[in-house]
Amino acid sequence: MKRYRVKAHLESPVVVRRERQSQRSEGVQFIAGTLLRGALAQAYLQYYGHADATFRQLFLDEEVCRFGPLDPADRVFPLTANSCKRVPGFSEDGKHGITDLLTVSLKKRLSQRTVAQQRCRNCGQELKSHSGFWHLKANSTPTEPKRRWRRSMAAHVGIDRPTQTAAESIFFTLPALEPEPTTDGEASLHGWVDAEQDALQALKQLLSQEDHILRIGHARTRGYGRVRVTIGEEVPLAPVDFSGWSKGILSRTAPELSPDRYFLFTVSLPTGAVLVDDLLRYTLDPAGMVPWLPPLPPPVADTRTFDTPGKEFEGGRLWCVTAVAHHERLRGWNAAHGLPRQDEWLVTRGSVYAYLYEGNSTGQAALHEKLRDLEANGIGARRNEGFGRVAVCDDFHLRFAPTEAI
Ligand SMILES: [Zn+2]
Repeated sequence: MKRYRVKAHLESPVVVRRERQSQRSEGVQFIAGTLLRGALAQAYLQYYGHADATFRQLFLDEEVCRFGPLDPADRVFPLTANSCKRVPGFSEDGKHGITDLLTVSLKKRLSQRTVAQQRCRNCGQELKSHSGFWHLKANSTPTEPKRRWRRSMAAHVGIDRPTQTAAESIFFTLPALEPEPTTDGEASLHGWVDAEQDALQALKQLLSQEDHILRIGHARTRGYGRVRVTIGEEVPLAPVDFSGWSKGILSRTAPELSPDRYFLFTVSLPTGAVLVDDLLRYTLDPAGMVPWLPPLPPPVADTRTFDTPGKEFEGGRLWCVTAVAHHERLRGWNAAHGLPRQDEWLVTRGSVYAYLYEGNSTGQAALHEKLRDLEANGIGARRNEGFGRVAVCDDFHLRFAPTEAI
């Protein structure tokens, strides 16, 4: 499968039932891949009348086609991202900058030294976690999308079906994303699909048959959810230099650990993941589905990595140093049966896991190969709804690590 950009333009408000129970969430900020896939599947059935072999490939076979979420920008802040409590945001327009605290937490686990609490570099105020979406401008400086869409509540009176009049005592509100008129005419969301060549052609054909207009989200019969969707160019692969990344992080967090002998890496989940353990219980631990990964460390703040047993890997030893991950509830709709499906637990978007390997170059090379596989295949359930994408050694942690001595 190759990855292609998807662009979506809201032509009417989209109602997205609130499914997130995250404490950090300010409300619905994006359209889940589940809804994009559902809208395309519905358009397919309306056009062709039945679920044939192509339908099953496009919407049920996750080795042929996967649909990512539609986001206000193409990058998600990791859960380790923090910013000033008073003036949060990237260092632009007088904001106080973003600080990533992964290196601080690595330092606590890997070294015996005490680590001072981080505060805002500009004003000394406390830091607080910073969530949402960002992207790089043409000049490679980071920025957050200007608020190009409103989040609003649409209020409705329930309709009494037999009499076609307003039903008594039924009044409800729906959270909606509304397009906001902007000077440059842009109110776009950014997404992606992973697809085999045939699947890509079938999707493009379907979209052109629909004049690129899909009905996305809930309350579609009430006039909501008209979205113009186009599939664009291929997203080029940009492989990260794992060893270089590890060297950079180790020099800031544990310079006594030689890069010849130690390899540090992160596994990030930018779209969230549905992870279960070997007894099919929901878990925050990727080791439940990736047998060669070591388990998460005990949830005790002062656990030192080298006091935990780790796990044998290719003649060396692999530890999970730290993890910043939360669960949130995920409601779903079973596309195949048209029925609500049981709630699931999603590992939140932006969750990060850091691991350390001690071993020789052969072991490190074997590990790199496993990590490339993980990036290519993703992890966990419901990958064709965009969940379970894996990013290894995210540049964010190096770029926004605190610069002062820690
Ligand atoms: Zn500040």
